[in-house]
Amino acid sequence: MMPYTTIGDVATAERTEDGRGSNALQAGGRLRDKFGRAITDLRVSVTDRCNYRCVYCRTGNEGAQFTELAIADYLRMVRRFVSLGVEKIRLTGGEPLLRRGLVEMVSALAQMRTAYTPDGIPAEIGHPLDIALTTNGHLLEGLAKPLKDAGLNRITVSMDAVDSETFTAITRVPRSFDRVMAGIRQAKEVGLGPVKVNCVLLRGFNDSQIEQFAEFSRREGVIVRFIEFMPLEEDRSWKPETVIQMDELVGRLNAYRPLVELAPNAPSETAKRFTFDDGLGEIGIIAPVSRPFCGHCSRVRLTSDGKIRTCLFSQSDHDLYGELARGGTDEELDAYIRKVVMRKEARHHIGEPDFEKPSRNMVHIGG
Ligand code: SAM
Repeated sequence: MMPYTTIGDVATAERTEDGRGSNALQAGGRLRDKFGRAITDLRVSVTDRCNYRCVYCRTGNEGAQFTELAIADYLRMVRRFVSLGVEKIRLTGGEPLLRRGLVEMVSALAQMRTAYTPDGIPAEIGHPLDIALTTNGHLLEGLAKPLKDAGLNRITVSMDAVDSETFTAITRVPRSFDRVMAGIRQAKEVGLGPVKVNCVLLRGFNDSQIEQFAEFSRREGVIVRFIEFMPLEEDRSWKPETVIQMDELVGRLNAYRPLVELAPNAPSETAKRFTFDDGLGEIGIIAPVSRPFCGHCSRVRLTSDGKIRTCLFSQSDHDLYGELARGGTDEELDAYIRKVVMRKEARHHIGEPDFEKPSRNMVHIGG
């Protein structure tokens, strides 16, 4: 396993783009944690129900465990985050397309405007938010157009195999592959491209698909992103040996066809990007296990029951909805968010002897 380099990264993050890292403890201004990392990215889970039972994520016996809130409550909380500097919203779950009111939620998000410029200066006229969605794609064919029309900018579809049989073995839902393919093609058709396709690789399970995924990217015109498997599953099956690490993956892809590295889209980008020597296809590799990017983390999460999670691997969450339900004013909610964000963890501890499993699994957090 690669050594961790995130403490140095955090020091870098303190010297952030507007040079205000050392002011991170100040009461006002754009939302930052105690390491000076600006929090610009909020992932909102709108349900922890899911219509797939992917074998590496869920036991298959347990369903939703947490409540869902009214869409208006999510929107009120999102508005507070946006007023503090969040500019990207990713809707997730569980499976977000199961959630009634999702299209209306996207419409409302599309009306919001950023409160700060990218340099961290209060904006006189803000920009529309960057609104993205992560889905398993099962219901996407029918929802892609309404979501696009409502203002959705980007979509990521999770797919852990490119052949129907392996796909069904993973999702445990018959004929799921054809449904997801129809969803991806419809998303492209309505202008939600380039579609990102996320694949979690597990040794001995779907790693035989690596080259086929490369072909898939080239043939379908989608960005395929491989994500290292993290210990976030319901049934505690994670082992370091199961993870296909970035170096091994790059070797496999290079043997298939020479890779050419692409420049990052943004400094905080989690994926290392590649194309092939003929420029056809795009592969991203997200390597939280072998190349942690915690030092540049700009994310917090809001769970379906309205709790803030400052890290995927947090041991506890923070009840923002509780503050709202108690009648908290906007100022009180803002103060609560600032206080919680100050407690954001420096980094995760995957693979280290002191690693403790997080208090929730991926499906109940929102990936
Ligand atoms: N249902 C939606 C979907 O399938 O994209 C959103 C929720 S799902 C939990 C979000 C993402 O988390 C999926 O891409 C899934 O592959 C990924 N995921 C789940 N468990 C994971 C794990 N242990 N390590 C890495 N990624 C994981």
